[in-house]
Amino acid sequence: MNYYIHHRDDVLSTNKAQELTEKLELRGHTCTQDNPEIIITIGGDGTMLHAIHNYVDILDKVKFVGIHTGTLGFFTDYTSEELDMFVDDFDGDYHIFSHALIESRCYGADDQLRHQVYALNESRVENIIQTQTMKVSINDEYLEEFRGNGLCVSGQIGSTAYNRSIGGAIIDDTLQALQLTEISGIHHRHYRSLNSPLVLNPKAHITFESDSFEGAMLIYDHLNINLHQTKKIDIFFSSKHVNFIRFNDNSYYMRLRSLF
Ligand code: NAD
Repeated sequence: MNYYIHHRDDVLSTNKAQELTEKLELRGHTCTQDNPEIIITIGGDGTMLHAIHNYVDILDKVKFVGIHTGTLGFFTDYTSEELDMFVDDFDGDYHIFSHALIESRCYGADDQLRHQVYALNESRVENIIQTQTMKVSINDEYLEEFRGNGLCVSGQIGSTAYNRSIGGAIIDDTLQALQLTEISGIHHRHYRSLNSPLVLNPKAHITFESDSFEGAMLIYDHLNINLHQTKKIDIFFSSKHVNFIRFNDNSYYMRLRSLF
């Protein structure tokens, strides 16, 4: 099988990448940057996110599997102590788990598309400089006027990431959903928004509009763009998918137990 290793830049991950390349070569697998079928990440969850964004234009041609060298991750099925087990499994059957990416489109005052970006975990509008006011619509229907630091839109896989830290619900891995969660919403006599995570149908389109997004960022996974001159942001599940391969049967609840 043609594969490529995307590893974190620390000594342990670099050494494990070298060791794994040698072990897989002995089994007849080829490490190549040209058209790899499988991307093996060695590092943490962030390493997997970096790899996915590196290959975002050819996600239909590659599959991902992760080995962790730090604390146990959500995207990693093996520890760096389990390279031999990984090499044995690599020759066997695997299941494919496919996850739609979250697409965000940002438009300027002239309705021109200014940015189109993708996220696996979440896409969030956050303003730590001034109160962000924005009109929120779902499927073009007005929901509320939000005031506060921002709003986070996550998918099932991102429900255990940033979303969880701001009080969002964890979504079971058999369900697909978009979740809208407030980031430090302001609620008092004059201003009121939902103040509760809203779990939506995966076909939902969420729209944020504001006269000013000055000081706000769109943060998508570990990446960000400045929302200067943006007037409207549409967020929805994309037709782009990321495919993970899994050789073992670690259940979702086992992952939750071991992580949290
Ligand atoms: P990172 O790689 O250091 O990740 C930050 C933490 O989030 C790590 O502990 C990582 O294991 C965990 N994480 C990432 N994706 C996860 C998932 N789907 N389920 C459970 N835990 C997950 O930082 P980075 O390289 O900037 O990665 C960006 C991601 O980190 C973002 O997508 C965001 O969800 C997450 N993050 C979380 C917080 C928070 O919880 N307060 C803060 C910043 C970033």
